Amino acid sequence: MAIRTITRMGNPVLRQTARLVQPEEFGSPWLKGLLQDMRDSMVAAEGIGIAAPQIGESVQVAILGLDPENLIVVINPRIHVVDSTLSGLWEGCLSVPGLRGYVERPRAVRVDYYDESGEEKTINADGMLATVMQHELDHLFGTLYVDRVTDKTKLMFIEEYRDFVLPTLAAGSDIPD
Ligand code: ZN
Repeated sequence: MAIRTITRMGNPVLRQTARLVQPEEFGSPWLKGLLQDMRDSMVAAEGIGIAAPQIGESVQVAILGLDPENLIVVINPRIHVVDSTLSGLWEGCLSVPGLRGYVERPRAVRVDYYDESGEEKTINADGMLATVMQHELDHLFGTLYVDRVTDKTKLMFIEEYRDFVLPTLAAGSDIPD
């Protein structure tokens, strides 16, 4: 039950492939504590998702918080592209504070994963959920969204983004941190 410091770009933990959660760790006090700290840290930082490396733990656990009433805990994910048509959204990241960047990703994915009790689950995600899912799962494999910004003129400070880009966008084209 603690708000942890969010690791930032440059911290090596964000560049590692995180280890898998082991079978005996599901349901353990350690995993419960990790998830609580991740939730507390995500809420305190006003994020819509967080991955364990972002609080310094190199383990394959992520939380998607697009719907605050219904957080999705994703452990040891395997991701499959369902529709490789690229879809672009402006992304931000708690670990890269102050910036926004335009990233194109496959528009639909299926993710097989385990929940916190070790149950196998599947999510079919498209739209914003597909983007947030891919962004968070990238964190488990050492990738940051800035790596995926192909047009570097579309990587900028948030104030300039608000001044020059946001007024030109259709609703729903940007994703908060
Ligand atoms: Zn991020």
